[in-house]
Amino acid sequence: MVSVTNETTKLLEAALAAATDCWLANSNGALFDEAFDPESGKPEIRNFTTMVEMLFNYIEERRGFLQSRDFQLLSIEQPFAVPLDPDRPGLTYVGRLDKKFHYKGAIYAAEHKTTTLYKKDGFFRSDFIDSFSPSSQIDGYLYALHLLHGRKAKAVWVDAALVHGSVHNGFRFISVDRAFEQLAGWVWETRFWVSMIESQREALGASPQGGSNFEHQDGIAVQDLPYMPSFPKNTEQCTMYGNCTYIDLCKMWSNPEAWETPPGFTVSHWSPFDELDLASIKKSMDPTADETTCYDNTRISCFRRCNRMYYYRHVRDLLSESDRRALLFGSAWHAAMDVVWRTLARKGKDFHGS
Ligand code: SF4
Repeated sequence: MVSVTNETTKLLEAALAAATDCWLANSNGALFDEAFDPESGKPEIRNFTTMVEMLFNYIEERRGFLQSRDFQLLSIEQPFAVPLDPDRPGLTYVGRLDKKFHYKGAIYAAEHKTTTLYKKDGFFRSDFIDSFSPSSQIDGYLYALHLLHGRKAKAVWVDAALVHGSVHNGFRFISVDRAFEQLAGWVWETRFWVSMIESQREALGASPQGGSNFEHQDGIAVQDLPYMPSFPKNTEQCTMYGNCTYIDLCKMWSNPEAWETPPGFTVSHWSPFDELDLASIKKSMDPTADETTCYDNTRISCFRRCNRMYYYRHVRDLLSESDRRALLFGSAWHAAMDVVWRTLARKGKDFHGS
């Protein structure tokens, strides 16, 4: 019993160190303290104590599965790049699988997700569970998994973890599979959204690398127009998940092209090549694929949610400087998961992944 406790303590410390490093690296040095939610005024539950309690319970919960004879970890944070259209060789869907593993003769991907959507009976609210089927992100991962492994590819398991003030043992695998026809439909839809993004960029006169060149196709400088004739707003989304980061800009500006970067925002370009470590698989990609022809779920889902949001984030590269606690906690949890899965999977067998 003592050896189990020591082993768990050691793993907990290593996972916490990874989570802390990740949090510090992404928050300009501010640790996850006991802050207050700026909207509700309630104590922020995404804090260090919650992380410790969750990690301890997670290790105990997943130990049996990750160390079972039927389980073999294949990779951690593996980037992928798969073709989207045979008529456009460089057009590529890119992403990164949190984990890939072999289980009872089939290959699976695992995707870690944290949520505060709590239900007393079963930990997770049904709207959270249902959000993964259908899900463009999960369907994209399944498409990639099937292209990479053919018939051996089986499903994506969403590894859900509840973030709660007092309940710290809410974990669940949510299995998602898709028929071939459904994945073919996802490919068609993804090409559709890519063509919509490209048409909006064209309407703006934006350079494909990001940022606009302020030249409209009618010869009038875009910033001199009374409104911006591209990337329309989807006002249904402004307060759907709390206030949108860009809501003040949309209230003030009819033509954001006329304005410089506002206070409270920094310019931070989101590049799939950097974020997903695509350089490590560049050799296996189509040689014509580059940042302008590679699309990932982050950008496509942002565009689907609101075209104007895409403009602010991925054309103007604007990132809010306000507290991004949910994102920071989720990223820190991911970093801890890498340590927990790698360590537990290594026990008693070889792990050949990175
Ligand atoms: S960017 Fe879109 S979702 Fe956000 S406030 Fe503007 S219109 Fe609403």
